[in-house]
Amino acid sequence: MSVLPLCLEPHPALRSKARRVDLFTNDLRRLARDLTDTMYAHRGIGLAAPQVGQNLQVFVANPSQQRGREVVVVNPVLGECRGHVAITEGCLSLPDIWERVRRASDVRLSGQDVFGKSVVIDAEGLLAIVLQHEFDHLQGQLFIDRLPWFRRFDFHARHLFRNVSIRRAKP
Ligand code: ZN
Repeated sequence: MSVLPLCLEPHPALRSKARRVDLFTNDLRRLARDLTDTMYAHRGIGLAAPQVGQNLQVFVANPSQQRGREVVVVNPVLGECRGHVAITEGCLSLPDIWERVRRASDVRLSGQDVFGKSVVIDAEGLLAIVLQHEFDHLQGQLFIDRLPWFRRFDFHARHLFRNVSIRRAKP
């Protein structure tokens, strides 16, 4: 079991578009296992490779948090999205931040498993939300990017500038 260190916002790994996986090797399967271990160690329900500094299109999701029921998707493509839902989301790369985000309520995601076999997932409920959240990570997007501009502004004011203090220049 390997729990990998997490990249936290504003880490640059979170902001680049992840590369497609071409080789379905033991290294890829080890990365998928490590992502799973890291997700459980932090009590997350999803984790994408860029969050551990790996620029690859791989993520793991498991809204149930029951070991063995995780879904690992490689090279995902988001297909048909239907309906709307707003739910409060968090992210292991943005600790202690929770914001309400609008998403599709039903999605179809296709991709591959860790052996390169095609998979299609039709999801609703929390799994649909997690799949969209993790898919965004592979595009270099975070859930805060999906907030309306005024809430993004408020978010930056509250969270990102909180450690900035203005000091008078020394005479
Ligand atoms: Zn996240």
